[in-house]
Amino acid sequence: MTSLPSDATTDDPDVLDAYRTDRAAFCPSGSPRALVRARSLEDVVQTLRWAYEHNVPVVPQGTRTGLSGGANALDGCVLLNVEKLDQIVEIDVEEQIAVVQPGVINATLAAAVAEKGLYYPPDPGSKDISSIGGNVATNAGGMCCLKYGVTGDFVRALQVVLADGRVMRTGRRTAKGVAGYDLTRVFVGSEGTLGVVTEVTVALRPAAARPLAAIAFFDTMADACRAVADHLGTGARPAALELMDAATIAAVNRLQDLGFPDGVGAVLIAQSDAGTRAPEELAAFELSARRCAATDVIVSDNPAEADLLMQGRRLAGLAFENYPASLVDDVCVPRRNLAALVAGIERIAAEYGVEIATCGHAGDGNVHPAVLFDHSQAEAAQRAFAEIMRLGLELGGTITGEHGVGFLKRDWLARELDEAALWSHQRIKQALDPRGILNPGRVIDSMATGRTEVDQRSFG
Ligand SMILES: Cc1cc2nc3c(=O)[nH]c(=O)nc-3n(C[C@H](O)[C@H](O)[C@H](O)COP(=O)(O)OP(=O)(O)OC[C@H]3O[C@@H](n4cnc5c(N)ncnc54)[C@H](O)[C@@H]3O)c2cc1C
Repeated sequence: MTSLPSDATTDDPDVLDAYRTDRAAFCPSGSPRALVRARSLEDVVQTLRWAYEHNVPVVPQGTRTGLSGGANALDGCVLLNVEKLDQIVEIDVEEQIAVVQPGVINATLAAAVAEKGLYYPPDPGSKDISSIGGNVATNAGGMCCLKYGVTGDFVRALQVVLADGRVMRTGRRTAKGVAGYDLTRVFVGSEGTLGVVTEVTVALRPAAARPLAAIAFFDTMADACRAVADHLGTGARPAALELMDAATIAAVNRLQDLGFPDGVGAVLIAQSDAGTRAPEELAAFELSARRCAATDVIVSDNPAEADLLMQGRRLAGLAFENYPASLVDDVCVPRRNLAALVAGIERIAAEYGVEIATCGHAGDGNVHPAVLFDHSQAEAAQRAFAEIMRLGLELGGTITGEHGVGFLKRDWLARELDEAALWSHQRIKQALDPRGILNPGRVIDSMATGRTEVDQRSFG
């Protein structure tokens, strides 16, 4: 008879309480029966074998920075946290790959490969606190994804523990490889619903030059959006092109004074890591910005100043957490529709009487409108949040560019996928998780996957 790994398992109520949620608002979290802090592959295997045998739901967790409720506890579940699986197994300089355990923090990996002259580009705003396993499970994006791509573009191979405890390897270490279905891609972005990622092989790039940056100021968000389209329309591909509206700037300034001026309608920050060609790239950005009515553009020739500018933009997520409550949306639209999206968000804020601060990866058409509210406005805030997703879909986009569906957006997935795509999702889930024990009710509706009753017997 299998049992949970005794050395790694606790049912201490205070500890369980501390691990119950991620960072998303308005997502319910249940009472877990146990927390397993896995320290080995065997701990993960044993936990899943036991859960499969006893038909108990398992919620995989990285460092719980998720913004969709996907790592929140379910009633009677086992929380399977892998943050202690945090070893960098190998950095192969010649092949430009790294093999890591899932609990390695994104910035730790980036720093380790940088020491060897290599670069791991995916850089979510949470890079200092989120795990590579979580990044893979949510296919996390970030600022440098405009030029380099998202997490999934760098995942070569995975080790995954399946629902019944079997260990599977997907993909390969080589730059190319097309033997069989691309199972790696199936697991990337699957949000803990298909298997638990226990090892990741990522592709690396040669180190880029330290970036320089420019900041352009606009009276309106519409002008800033026009500048995004204008600049990218010239064929430019900056390392990052980030947008902040007046409300975001005010929120960041309240958190830390990094010198962003109050009273501007919007700023665009462009970053170039093109080395000796960086001044030329940033001059081209300045031209675009001025063509689109920028009131001022400051081009910096100092990498430290560039770091400060991007640090300011990265603080937006934390700055929103200082409000009584916030709901951060994550829609992504074709870049040509960015201005319409931003105008629609302003309309939605007025209609529902809530403040919405918008920032995001404008170069990708991916913005994070944060509905900021006090608890008396909770219903209006949730309706505004839903309207933003509806608008994103109407404009040819997606309900989530990078945060994932989790619990928060699961009712919206069926509005984005066609019937055949939804059917395929359900069949994949059934094939890989026939008892529906892996993160049930997240991403796709648990009913649709045939999850049966939870076995209530205690662990051990
Ligand atoms: C301030 C802030 C800024 C952020 N900025 C960005 C951003 O720029 N871009 C972006 O994409 N996201 C961003 N996020 C969201 C979040 O950091 C990412 O979704 C991140 O990838 C989650 O990683 P995690 O380790 O915290 O995962 P968790 O929150 O622990 O889990 C997230 C999901 O992945 C599953 N999961 C975790 N680990 C595993 C595993 N090993 N195997 C299988 N499933 C697993 C969980 O079940 C859950 O469904 C931000 C969050 C914050 C708080």
